[in-house]
This record gives sequence, structure tokens and C-alpha cells, in this order.
Amino acid sequence: MLSELHTIFRRGLLVALGFAILVISGRTLLLLGMMQPVVVRGSSMAPTLEGERWTIACPHCQRTLTIGVDQLASRPAPACLICGSLLADESLSLTPADQLVIDRTDSRLDRWDRVVFHCPHDALELCIKRVWGLPGEVMTIAEGDVFADGVRLAKPFSRQIEVRRLEHRSTGFRPRWQTDGGWRLDGDRWQGEPVEGKPSSLTYDAVVHDDHPGNVAVRRRFNQVNDLMIDVSAQTEPAAVWQLMLPGGHATLDTRRGLASISNHQGERQTPLATSTPRRVQFSNFDHRLVVGIDGQELLSLPANDAATGPPPTVRVLHGRVTLQDLSLYKDIYYEGVPLAWGATGDQPWLIGPDEYFVLGDNQAVSVDSRRWETTPGLPRRLILGRPYRRQGW
Ligand SMILES: [Zn+2]
Repeated sequence: MLSELHTIFRRGLLVALGFAILVISGRTLLLLGMMQPVVVRGSSMAPTLEGERWTIACPHCQRTLTIGVDQLASRPAPACLICGSLLADESLSLTPADQLVIDRTDSRLDRWDRVVFHCPHDALELCIKRVWGLPGEVMTIAEGDVFADGVRLAKPFSRQIEVRRLEHRSTGFRPRWQTDGGWRLDGDRWQGEPVEGKPSSLTYDAVVHDDHPGNVAVRRRFNQVNDLMIDVSAQTEPAAVWQLMLPGGHATLDTRRGLASISNHQGERQTPLATSTPRRVQFSNFDHRLVVGIDGQELLSLPANDAATGPPPTVRVLHGRVTLQDLSLYKDIYYEGVPLAWGATGDQPWLIGPDEYFVLGDNQAVSVDSRRWETTPGLPRRLILGRPYRRQGW
């Protein structure tokens, strides 16, 4: 193990983090059946899929943070990386790697599917990444987003939910939502109503960056992330009208008229809104598309070409009273296309062959993938094993 580690570290730390993803849990099972069990190794798909890791559950800020053992081999210091609190021993544990099975019976791959394949640099290793580019496409990366043949790829809402990462949860340490007077925090709930007939706003007062506190082995500059998602449980009076605002536009939930709408300077769309309450409401501007979701299902969407500018995340109440619980802010993955400095040859645009896929890891800062392979950016179809599933379902 030690010599293996030394070998890995000679290749450079980032390469080590990104290359070794999956280890076959029993080599004899290989090729025996069409469902193949594997365990995840490494941080390249974190936080959606993780290898063995340290889990820090902080009772002070109520956040759970993980650090892959590939990034930190020894027990971390007993302190929360988010709020800085000193932690008791029981807040820190070693969590075993996620277990997956590979479905080898179905070789169809769609964009955004996870895929397991023989690593191009070492056919004895298995890698897991997410499909972004399909055969024959020309891929580029800009503003944190991925483009195919010049078109910005907009993830369906279900994929947004899959890859989003938590930035802040309102009830924790260090509240970041600021009220202009009409909102008050009552235990773990925000209650808002207009003041003297004027709308009241609750505004997120911090810049969001593409940092991932679990990437303790990585030093790099951070990018500002504008692709955000507000996700909150809302209880409203029957006559309430309230709004969720993000750069690029805003959503209005009007329980008086039973309507949900999205609007910005490019237009407005609306759809009936069932009146039952409470439920979870999502509003996102990922990939220049505004989406309203109810309980994780897309309800309504609108293009937003100026999603890099505009108001910070805001909840605004225009009529009636709204009670919010578990007000959470999530962010999209922010991809960088610039090849890092260890000699990888990849540079954009990446031309994907007729029998190849463009694949990226979810933990973009450490993942060695189509952007960074020294051979060709395309993943040849012949190296693909299949799509992975969690043993207990996703
Ligand atoms: Zn904490």
C-alpha cells in the first residue's frame, strides 16, 4: 500500500486524486455476471459519490463535511472546516466507501449519465465520471459551464438536484440572510410579511465561490459562482404572494390566484400552482435557465441569458404572511477548462471522435478526466463497462 501510495504521489497529487476511482471489490467477480459490484475510491466524484472518507458532523453549524482519505490519510484535527468550532471525538468518523454495481446489460449512454470504464492510462484500473459530450461533438468550457458545438448545456432539473452542492443552510451558525425589516427568525423559521404595504426582502449577503471544503489537498484560486438554487419549505397564508429572486430573473408564487410564474427581461411564463401548503419550493438559475421546482419536480422554466448579473438570492413577500423552514442555498458545479500545469496536453476546444464520449468528474477541481488526459480527450466506447447504481438505490 505504501509503495503504491509513493508511486501515486510521484505522479503528482492531483493526478492521484483524479485517477484512481474504483477498485473491484472481488476480482473474481469480474466478468462473471452482467452486474458487477465495485466500491468507489478517491474524491473525483465527490460529493455525489465518495470513496472512504472522514465525516465531520458539526453540532455547531449543523453541517456535515467529508474529506476523502485520498486527500487526508490521517485523522483530521478535531475542528469544523466550515465554522471553526472545536469538535468532540464522536463528531468525527471514518465512513466506508460508497458501494455500487455496474449494469453491464445496457450500453446506452445519455448526457449526464454516470459511466464506469477502464481508465485510459491504466486498463487495470476503473474510473467513474459523468458523460458531458456525445460522439462527434466539439466541447468547450466557459463561465463555469460546458458547451457542445457552441451550445451551453443546460442540465434537466433532475440532474441539477443530483449535482448541486449545499452552500448554506439558514438555521446554522453564522446566518447570512439579511432582512430589511419585515422578516424575523423564530427558532429555525423565518417569518415574513409586508411592512406598511411595502414588500419585505430577505437577502443572501455573501459571495458564493466554487470552493469545496473537503478538498483539503488542493490549493487553487476560487471562482465566483452565479448558478444558484434556493430550496425551502414554505407555509403560506391563502392570500400570500411571494417571490424568489436570483441573478437572471425571479419567480412569483401567487396563492391568491393559484399561479406560479417566472419573469425576466426576456419574457414571462406562468402555470397553475396547486394551493396546498406547506411544501418544498426550488428556484434555480443553473446553466442560464430559470427553473421553478415543487418537491424536486420541475414546474416551469425560462431561458436567462444574463444569469451572471442581477440581484443576489432574495426571498420577497408582497402580500400575506410566509413562513420558511430550512431555507437553503445550493450551487452548481463550476467547471474550469484551463489545463493544469503538470503537463497534460488537453486544451479546448476538445474534438470528440465518432465513437467517443467527453467525460468529467463531479469534483471538478481534482478530477482527472477528458480535460486532462494525456492521450485523447474522448473516452473510447470500447473502454466503457456500463452505468453504475448505488447498491441501495441512488
Ligand atoms: Zn461547524
